[in-house]
Amino acid sequence: MRRVLVGWFAQAARDLPWRKQRTPYTVVVSEFMLQQTQVSQVIEYFNRWMRLFPSWRELARAEDAVVRKAWEGLGYYSRATRLRDVARSVMDNHCGELPRDIDVLKKLPGFGDYTLGAVASMAFGFPLAAVDGNVARVLSRVAGEPDGWRDPSQRKSWRELAEKLLDRREPGLFNEALIELGATVCTPSSPRCAECPWQQWCPTAGMMLENRVAQSPKASKKIELSQRVAWVVYRGKLALKESAGPWWKGLWVLPPVEQGTGAVLASSAFTVTRHKVHLQVLQGTRSEVQGCVWHSLDQLEALAMPAPHRKVVNHLIGLD
Ligand code: SF4
Repeated sequence: MRRVLVGWFAQAARDLPWRKQRTPYTVVVSEFMLQQTQVSQVIEYFNRWMRLFPSWRELARAEDAVVRKAWEGLGYYSRATRLRDVARSVMDNHCGELPRDIDVLKKLPGFGDYTLGAVASMAFGFPLAAVDGNVARVLSRVAGEPDGWRDPSQRKSWRELAEKLLDRREPGLFNEALIELGATVCTPSSPRCAECPWQQWCPTAGMMLENRVAQSPKASKKIELSQRVAWVVYRGKLALKESAGPWWKGLWVLPPVEQGTGAVLASSAFTVTRHKVHLQVLQGTRSEVQGCVWHSLDQLEALAMPAPHRKVVNHLIGLD
C-alpha cells in the first residue's frame, strides 16, 4: 500500500509553489495557511507571503498590522500572528533555524498534533503521522467505516492506523501523498474510487461507486447568527473598531450595534467556522460609535479587514 501510494503521488501530485521550494520555513508557512483552507485559495497568499517575508528573519521583524494585512481574506487570523510568533521564537531562541527536535517543535505556537506531524516529517523526515480531515476520511473508508471520519470520538483510531501504515523511510512523502489522496480523490461526497491507488484494498470502494455516502445532515448544519453593524462617515472618515473577538482579533471591522434604528444600507451573509452569519449594515450616528477610530475613506485599502466587512465597505463606498 505504501509503495503504490507513493508511486501514484509521483505522477498525480499537483504542482504547488511550496513543493518547488521546500525548506523548513516554506513547510511551516504552507502548513499554517492550509489549515481549514482550500489549496486553490492558498497559492496566491503563499506566493505573496514569500515575497513579503522571504525568511524567518523578515517575518520575525513584522508588526501585527502588516502580518494581518498580508493574511487578509484567508480567514482564521490568529494563524497569522502565531506564524509570526514562531518566526520570533526561531530567531530569538534557535539561532534562526527551525529546531530539529520534536519536543521543542511541539512547544512552538500553533503546533498541534497535525502540524507537528506534518512539519516534523516533511521538513526533517521524523517518522510521525499527520492526520488531518483528508487523511481521517481515507483511513476510515479503507478501514470499512465510510462515515467514521465524521465522528470526533474516533480520531484516535485514525491516528493509530496512520502510525501503523506510515512509511518510516520516507514519512514526509507518505504523509503528503495521503493528504493529497484525500484532497483530490477520496473527497467527502464524490470519491473517485476508479482512480484511487488503494481501491483494491478498500472495502468501501464498490459500495461508494454504487451508492455515494450522503452528506450527514448533522455535519453540514450551520448555526445561524445575526449581526448588526453601524455605518457612520463623518468628514470623509469612517468609524471602525479593532476587533477583540475570536474570529477576527486585531482586524478592523464595522462597529456592532445592539439596537440600531437607522435604515438598512447593505446586507450580506457569510460563513465562519460552523456559523452562518447574516450581517446587516445600518445607518448609525456618531453617538453609537463612540470609542471607535476614524479612518479616511481613501486609506481603507491599507487596513486589514475581514473579507465580509471589506465587501460591504467597498460596496457602500462604491468600489465594487
Ligand atoms: S477506493 Fe474510494 S473510498 Fe476507498 S480510499 Fe479510494 S477513493 Fe476513498
